[in-house]
Amino acid sequence: MPAVIHQPDTIEKLRILGRDGQYDLACACGSTKDEHRKRGPDGNWIYPVTLPNGGKTTLFKTLVSNACNNDCLYCPLRDKNDVRRCTLGIEETADVFMQYLQARQVFGLFLSSGLTGDADKTMARINAIAAIVRRKHGFRGYIHLKILPGASPAAIEETLRLASAVSINIETPGAEYMAKLSQRKDFLKDIIEPMKLISRLTAKGTRYERVKSTTQFIVGAAGETDKKIVRYMTGLYQRLKLNRVYFSAYQSAPGAESLSAGKENPTDRLMREHRLYQVDFLMRKYGFSDADILFDESEKLSLEKDPKQLWAEAHPEFFPVNINNADKFTLLRVPGLGPRTVKTILDGRKTGRISRLEEVMRHGKLLQKAKSHVVF
Ligand code: SF4
Repeated sequence: MPAVIHQPDTIEKLRILGRDGQYDLACACGSTKDEHRKRGPDGNWIYPVTLPNGGKTTLFKTLVSNACNNDCLYCPLRDKNDVRRCTLGIEETADVFMQYLQARQVFGLFLSSGLTGDADKTMARINAIAAIVRRKHGFRGYIHLKILPGASPAAIEETLRLASAVSINIETPGAEYMAKLSQRKDFLKDIIEPMKLISRLTAKGTRYERVKSTTQFIVGAAGETDKKIVRYMTGLYQRLKLNRVYFSAYQSAPGAESLSAGKENPTDRLMREHRLYQVDFLMRKYGFSDADILFDESEKLSLEKDPKQLWAEAHPEFFPVNINNADKFTLLRVPGLGPRTVKTILDGRKTGRISRLEEVMRHGKLLQKAKSHVVF
C-alpha cells in the first residue's frame, strides 16, 4: 500500500513556518525588552513590534518557505538537516494575511524565506505575495520584505517598489567570520553589494527614500568579538545609512550545528545581545561614538555592567553635571538619565530652576544612580 502523505493545511504550515521564522528579529521583533521575542496570543506568526520609526504595531510574520539550499551552520533550516519542510502558496499567503488584517489582529506584514532555487526565484515569490496584497487588495500599510543574499539589482528594485521596509541580514562583522559559517554565501558579493545598492536606491531625494532599511547580526556563532560588531555597526549607520541594526543571540536550536564558537554559555550570549542593543541606543540616541564604548581585553562588552555606567566610571572628571545648565548631551551622559527624563529637565528649566531630581523623575533605582552624579 502506498504511504499516505499528510499535506499540511494553511494553519499547520503557519505553525511550522512561524516557528522557524522566530530567529529573524530584523523586522523589529525584539528591539525593546517588553516585546523581546514575544508572540501574539493567536499563534507563532503574530508579533508585537516597535518599527524603525518608533511606532508600535502588530505584524503577521512568517517564512514563505522553510526549504533552503544554503548551508549556514548556525541555522536549523540548512539544506542537509532533516526537518519538516513546507511552502506557503502565493495566493494562500496573501489571503490568510488579509483575513487577519480584516479581523484587526494584525496591521502589517513581514515576509522572509529560505532560499528555494536561487535568490531571484525566492524574491519573486515574496514580491508576488506583496504585489497581491498591495495591488489587488489595496493595502497601504506596513510591509517588511526580506532581501535574500545574492538577489539581483532588478529583484531588489521590485522589492523596494512594494515594501515599507527591507532587510538583508549581514550576520557577521566581516567575510572571515562568514566563511566559518557558510561555504556558499559570498559576504561581499551576496550581502555587502546588495546593501550598498539598497543604500543608494533609498538615499534622500531618491524614488525609494520612504523605504526603511535594517539588518541583523547573529551574536556568538562565529567567535566574533563585540568590538568587531560595534565597529561594523558604526559603518552601517554612517556609510550605508541603515535605519536600524538588530542582534540575535545564536541559539543552538534542534538541528543547528553545534558550533565550537557557540559553546559560549547561552545566557551570556543573550546578555551580549542585550548589551549590544544598549550600545546601539547610546550611539543613536545619546550621542555616544564607538570610541566611547569600553571593552575588556578580549574585546567583549561587560556582562555585569551596562556600557553607560562603565563610561561614567572611567570619566570621573566629567561629573558632577549641573542639572540647571548642562546641555542635552551632557545630561544624557549621567547614569540613570534617559532621553525622556532629560526632556523633562529641559522643559522644566524653561519655567524655573530645578532643585531636586524628584521633581523630574520617579523614586527608584535610576534616581539613586543619577543622584551621585549631579548638582543643582
Ligand atoms: S539562507 Fe542560511 S540562515 Fe537563511 S534559511 Fe537558509 S540556511 Fe537558514
